[in-house]
Amino acid sequence: MSVTVRFCGAAQTVTGSCTLLQTPSGRVLVDCGLFQGQKALKQLNYGAFPFRPADIDQVLLTHAHIDHSGLLPKLVREGFRGRILATRGTIDLCSWMLPDAGSIQESEVASLNRRNAARGRSEVTPIYTQADAIASLQSFQPVDYETWCDVIPGVRARYWNAGHLLGSASIELEVAEDAASARPIRLLMSGDVGPDGKLLEPDPKAPSGFDYVISESTYGDRIRPPTSPELRRQRLAAEVRDAAAAGGALLIPAFAVERTQELIVDLIDLMDHGEIPTAPIFLDSPLAIHATEVFRTHAASLDPTIDINRLFNSPNLRFTETVDESKSIARLTGFHIIIAASGMCDAGRIRHHLKRWLWSNRATVLLVGYQAHGTLGRFLQEGAKAVRIQGEEIKVAARIRMIDDYSGHADGSEIARWIAARRPIERGLFLVHGEEAAIAGLADRVAERIIPAAKLFQPVLDDIFELSGAEPRLLDVTHRRRLAPEAVTHLDWHNDMSGLILDINERIEAAADDRARGVIIRRLRRALDAEG
Ligand SMILES: [Zn+2]
Repeated sequence: MSVTVRFCGAAQTVTGSCTLLQTPSGRVLVDCGLFQGQKALKQLNYGAFPFRPADIDQVLLTHAHIDHSGLLPKLVREGFRGRILATRGTIDLCSWMLPDAGSIQESEVASLNRRNAARGRSEVTPIYTQADAIASLQSFQPVDYETWCDVIPGVRARYWNAGHLLGSASIELEVAEDAASARPIRLLMSGDVGPDGKLLEPDPKAPSGFDYVISESTYGDRIRPPTSPELRRQRLAAEVRDAAAAGGALLIPAFAVERTQELIVDLIDLMDHGEIPTAPIFLDSPLAIHATEVFRTHAASLDPTIDINRLFNSPNLRFTETVDESKSIARLTGFHIIIAASGMCDAGRIRHHLKRWLWSNRATVLLVGYQAHGTLGRFLQEGAKAVRIQGEEIKVAARIRMIDDYSGHADGSEIARWIAARRPIERGLFLVHGEEAAIAGLADRVAERIIPAAKLFQPVLDDIFELSGAEPRLLDVTHRRRLAPEAVTHLDWHNDMSGLILDINERIEAAADDRARGVIIRRLRRALDAEG
């Protein structure tokens, strides 16, 4: 009998996590995430799934992040009728995050349609709406950590705390090949794995002894400088003091869930101890505000040494839920702190604040998390002199700073150690959920040292492997690919294009005078005409 795995997302890329396991008795999907970042990938969100949603029997969800959960409302709307098994923490977070994602889809499509109408192009419909997202919540069913649950006949699963986010899990699976099989195939899906010593969460946990391990690789090629709670707070304090000295706003683009709550815990604690100047901290994200309430509810499952309720009740913390409250922050001129989503600056209220402040050398932008290729955050991180926000070009004069201490992901050596602790891994280790370089970096780190190179696989999008044999076998899927592998791994032309426009503007502005500018423009024109 045949057991196959299809990598429907997050293969040679870091978003759109989705893995289809097909067994003799049915189909199980692990995660159903939204593609983010590059246009070519985001386009997949609008297209058909590479399977029929009605054919999927159950979904196992590792955690609430949108790149793992964000296409569930579409899956349900298009005919999925099974259950979505997730921990209670994940369900509570999804009950805010998915409706929020639905309303982002609606508003992004509304503004795209306004632009399309002006250009005479046809209307686009949202991937799903807020109502679709709310409807999909009915399909969730809670599971406990470390307890076996039956998924479909012959398949059972057990969730282990992955230490990455409230409710996050690595999922252990046992798949019987047929009723007579003496020994089931044992698999482990890492989900996203947290770093050691993470604020609020325990260290990641999982058993050992598998046939297959499917591991994330987000930071596979990076080693983070060693950190500790003390070092982390010191580095944050130094950044906040510098930002206060510059005299303008400190903008922290943050993921609404967990990263935001970690920052609040440290910022309030530093203010209470007089280590940074006291200033208002605006939590300018309705989703982050609701997520903060979920953290309060689950305080008992988080680090017991942190008094979350006291910190979250600080008078320095201001919640700006409505649009009017949010707009009123824009009138402030001196030092204040704004935490707003999204963490990679590609959506959300942070974009308004960036528009308001990026041109000012009194402002500071503090990046506190992973910035994917093609996002505004990545352009800032790489030192862009100007960026485009909602079609408008904005000069970057603000100080762009970055700290790594709040990562929700294990780094290269931590993930390699996590893999090593899962041994023996009998038949194969699949590296997924990372950009090309990160996966290659992790492969270098584990090949031969931790697992024989012959047992190491780096699947590309839509690859299908047969798992029943002594070793995994790649099936021929040429005609079933949604994207050519090189379209997944390389920056698409949209990014090249915006980079080029910014470079041209910069070169022309830097020219000595109008005559020199005229020369550059004529040369570019000649190059274009030569192409035509
Ligand atoms: Zn995650």
